[in-house]
Amino acid sequence: MVTYSPTIKKGYMLFFKKKKEDEKAEDVKPKLSMFEKLASGLHKTKANILNKLSSVFTSEKIDEDTLGKLEEALYTSDIGVKTTDKILEEVRKKIKSGEEIANIKDLIKDVMVSLIKTDERREIKIAEKPHVILVVGVNGNGKTTSIGKLAYYYKNKGYKVLIGAADTFRAAAIEQLEVWADRSGADFVKNKMNSDPAAVAYDSYKAGEARGADIVLIDTAGRLHNKVNLMNELEKISRVLKKLNPNAPHEVLLVLDATTGQNALSQAKQFGRTSGVTGIVLTKLDGTAKGGVTIAINQELDIPVKFIGIGEQKEDIQEFDPESFVRSIFE
Ligand code: GDP
Ligand code: MG
Repeated sequence: MVTYSPTIKKGYMLFFKKKKEDEKAEDVKPKLSMFEKLASGLHKTKANILNKLSSVFTSEKIDEDTLGKLEEALYTSDIGVKTTDKILEEVRKKIKSGEEIANIKDLIKDVMVSLIKTDERREIKIAEKPHVILVVGVNGNGKTTSIGKLAYYYKNKGYKVLIGAADTFRAAAIEQLEVWADRSGADFVKNKMNSDPAAVAYDSYKAGEARGADIVLIDTAGRLHNKVNLMNELEKISRVLKKLNPNAPHEVLLVLDATTGQNALSQAKQFGRTSGVTGIVLTKLDGTAKGGVTIAINQELDIPVKFIGIGEQKEDIQEFDPESFVRSIFE
């Protein structure tokens, strides 16, 4: 029989006591619904947009002066020129038709919801194994963090996930990703720093295939100062994957930082043209008042926003649902 010294015994007891307390604390934490989490993540954007619109909401009647205020408020809310123009057009139509407008706030919300592009490509369909998701974007935008959150998201849906560390540029990047793999319970494939990213992608696919992974998420580097090399590198990764499976990568997700506002939109336009991007992950919406840019990106590009990041914890990612997004701002 194994006997433990009193010190070790005491250590164990303290450990389990602490574990129990932690679990209890976890239980009493109020569980927010998806919508409440979204609304709380978007509170800065909401405050910004509603504040800009406040003089419109308090107008006695909707005349040209009010419409001018509405136009200005929308233009400066990052939702984009096209969307602003469309909203104004619709509001004018309603006024012309003589319809009684009881609540301008609800009217703007309804018009926005009706304008927002729906896109059946938004949903990621896991059709074959392994489904390869290549994650690209400028450094600092949140690629590694989003991969960690996506791994957790898909694990919770019952998928077996493997993460490949093809950002081999810095050792810290590989370590950071490994922590996320642990946290989300995903398998992990890495190689040495400065090894060929395409070779890591190759190994990740092979490992995913051998271990029966449903989803292989591949991290990449995003050095801006060397755009041509970066694009070549991403193309090489895709080429190598295509040799293994002509459908791979099944998905190329471009990660954009919402705190950069209009810059995120221009990055989407640049990247979108060159690297076969199939969807956008918009991160850091919790840290910015410029979340209106989500609407601009969704409306002005032919690439659907697929996920939004609303925090740094593993559960802080959601599928982008345009209607809930608008409702969380106006309700
Ligand atoms: P990468 O260089 O593109 O891989 O970016 P990282 O994943 O390393 O993220 C850069 C920083 O942004 C880190 O400090 C992350 O914690 C932070 N970050 C990423 N996504 C979010 C988010 O949705 N909300 C917040 N508040 N921070 C985020
Ligand atoms: Mg990274």
